[in-house]
Amino acid sequence: MTKPIIGIAPGVLTVDSHMFPGRQRDYVNRDYLQSVTANGGVPLILPVTADAAMIQQYSQLIDGLLLCGGQDIDPLNYGEEPLAELGEIDPQRDQYEMALVRATHAAHKPVLGICRGLQLLNTLYGGTLYQDVADMPAGEGTIKHMQAQLPAYGIHHIQVAASSQLAAYLGQTKLTVNSFHHQTLNKIAPGFNVVATAPDQVVEAIEATTGGLQLGVQWHPEMMQPTNPVMSQLFAKFINTSAV
Ligand code: MN
Repeated sequence: MTKPIIGIAPGVLTVDSHMFPGRQRDYVNRDYLQSVTANGGVPLILPVTADAAMIQQYSQLIDGLLLCGGQDIDPLNYGEEPLAELGEIDPQRDQYEMALVRATHAAHKPVLGICRGLQLLNTLYGGTLYQDVADMPAGEGTIKHMQAQLPAYGIHHIQVAASSQLAAYLGQTKLTVNSFHHQTLNKIAPGFNVVATAPDQVVEAIEATTGGLQLGVQWHPEMMQPTNPVMSQLFAKFINTSAV
């Protein structure tokens, strides 16, 4: 039996050297690939392109789409000027991933966005971000969301909405997750529900209310997956959803 193909959108790394100035690589961290292979899928890296026809073809090749972590989203995409705390951005990657999500969703295939992937989903559909956790209202965003512990360690709690697809994937509604983000969701995109929050009101997951699975999580399940059966199950269920 053939396994579902999970398309993975890579980041672009500039590897400058004396001999090859400005040389670029499309790359995916191996833990994303291994999270797919270990849980019933075939990962397929989809190199960054601005070619609409190629993006359309990508969406036909795959059964589901995985968006990875990476740079901040260009705030111009959600109607804001950059603030001092904004980190590195890659506007070309933003445009590529938004077009790829549109094409994948139009082809009725599920989308899982991780960290930056969550933020991209929210931005694409009309939501906004806090450019830094510190920009949240007083009393919110008080937990440390950029942990110094090893990435398999769940450093803060989240509460998951019991009726959500995410809760069905995780098999539980209260758990600890790792945290490697300095930006967070602000206004939630129309057509999406918040389905997980940290105790300090930071949004840790959203999902589309209708029209097929589009789920974003703020933590990094791929870094927890090797030693954490709950995160393995999250990938397995997502890959299983992609199979049908
Ligand atoms: Mn967090």
